[in-house]
Amino acid sequence: ISMKLKAAAEVKEKSKCHFKILHSITEVNENSSVHGLIVQLPLDSIHKIDTEKVTNAVAPEKDVDGLTSINAGKLSRGDLGDCFIPCTPNGCMELIKQTGVSVAGKRAVVLGRSKIVGAPMHDLLLWNHATVTTCHSKTADLAGEVSKADILVVGIGKAEMVKGEWIKKGAVVIDCGINHIPDETKASGKRVVGDVHYASATEQAGYITPVPGGVGPMTVAMLMANTVLSAKRFLETHQPG
Ligand code: NDP
Repeated sequence: ISMKLKAAAEVKEKSKCHFKILHSITEVNENSSVHGLIVQLPLDSIHKIDTEKVTNAVAPEKDVDGLTSINAGKLSRGDLGDCFIPCTPNGCMELIKQTGVSVAGKRAVVLGRSKIVGAPMHDLLLWNHATVTTCHSKTADLAGEVSKADILVVGIGKAEMVKGEWIKKGAVVIDCGINHIPDETKASGKRVVGDVHYASATEQAGYITPVPGGVGPMTVAMLMANTVLSAKRFLETHQPG
C-alpha cells in the first residue's frame, strides 16, 4: 500500500486510508472529485469483516481495482471496454503484450483462481482469445498442466514452487508471487522471491518476469492508469453540453 500511496501522490491523485470502512466508502462514492477507490485487502482488523460486502460497497464506476461483482461479471462475459480490470492481471496482460507474442490461439495456463489474480487473469486471457486452463490447489498434475503452456501466469503464493523443468521451452512466464524467505546474507534476514524458481525457469522460458521488479511495479502503474481512465469516463458523462 505504501507503493500505491506514493505513486498516487506522484500523479497528484488524492489517496486516503479509511478505517470506518462502509461509512467512508459511501462518502467517497458520493464525492464527485474522487474517481478511484480501492479497499486494500486483507482487511486488517481484530473483528470479523465481510470482505465481499465491503468490496461491493465501492461504486462500480470508481472501482479501479475491479473487485466488485459488477466489474468481475462484465470481465467474465468479455465486456472488457465497459469494466475495470483488476490491476495485477491487467499488468500481466500488458507485460505479455510487450513481448510481442500474440495471445490469440495460444495455450495459456493460470496457476491460482483468487478474485484478485487468478480468476480475472483467466478471463482476460480467454477474451484475448487464448485457450485457457486454470489450476488450483486441487489440480491433480500441476507440472503436467504447466508443461503445456505457451503462456504461463502464476499467482499461488508458494515460494519458488514452479520449477524450470516443468516449463515448455520458449514459454512466456509471468510470476505474480511475492514471498519472503529467510536469507542470512541480508540485513533484514530475508528476501523476496516469486512463485517460480527463477534460476531454473530462465533456462527454459522465452520471456520471464523477475521478482521483485516485474509484476509488482506494473500493478501500481495499472492502478494509476485505471484511476485516470475513471476520471476520463466521469468527465465524458458529466461535461456541460
Ligand atoms: P490467494 O491465497 O488468495 O490464492 C492463491 C491461489 O493459489 C488459490 O486459488 C489456491 O487454490 C492456489 N494454490 C495455493 N496453493 C497451491 C498449490 N500448491 N498448487 C496449485 N495452486 C495452489 O493468493 P492471491 O491470489 O491473493 O496471491 C497469489 C500470489 O500473488 C501471492 O504470492 C501474492 O503475494 C501475490 N500477489 C501479488 C500482487 C502484485 O502486485 N504483484 C498482487 C496480488 C497478489 P485454491 O483456490 O484451491 O485454494
